[in-house]
Amino acid sequence: MRIALFGGTFDPVHHGHLMLAQDAVEQLGLDKLIFLPAQVNPHKLHTAPKAEAAHRLKMLRAAVAGEERFEVSSIELAREGPSYSVDTVQALQENWPEARFFFLLGADNLPKLPTWHRFDDLRKLVEFVCFGRNTEKNADWNPHCSSTLERRLDISSTEIRQRIAAGLSIRYLVPESVRAFIYAHSLYQSSHE
Ligand code: ATP
Repeated sequence: MRIALFGGTFDPVHHGHLMLAQDAVEQLGLDKLIFLPAQVNPHKLHTAPKAEAAHRLKMLRAAVAGEERFEVSSIELAREGPSYSVDTVQALQENWPEARFFFLLGADNLPKLPTWHRFDDLRKLVEFVCFGRNTEKNADWNPHCSSTLERRLDISSTEIRQRIAAGLSIRYLVPESVRAFIYAHSLYQSSHE
């Protein structure tokens, strides 16, 4: 079994996340890719997600419906406090003790990677697969990355939230099911939420 973990806030999930996940499945020959929405991102402690956890989870589940290799886990949402990756990986490895685990990581996280909670344990449990958002050169990337994903889509959850608050369309930026959920629940309507 080859399993990749993709953590994030997913506030909301968008096509940038989904294309990246599909590339990972194909390039790494994955059997499973698990999306891990975080309760409290240890790196964004002062900026709580705008949508509640249950809504972020439902949007993710709607977005990946029909792709059998994609899975969504609520493991980090069920835990109190910051979501430390090492705890998550250890818990998931109990379910698949024989699997090879990959951990998808945005280049924006790389500089601080060695400061992550119990990083020395984490690096022994997973292979980091890194991807960029803008113009980072792979050659500059961290020695901890075992492989890279190249695709860039200029979409962020921040832009989607801002567009909704400004009354602009988010069609084509997120799956239709996610767009419908957002409007059905009046999410992200105010920029001050
Ligand atoms: P926000 O705008 O709220 O900070 P985000 O769009 O960066 O959100 P996250 O849920 O924080 O979304 O993303 C999870 C991971 O996916 C992060 O490592 C982030 O760098 C990466 N990511 C998000 N959007 C893209 C994209 N368009 N292309 C490549 N990576 C992305």
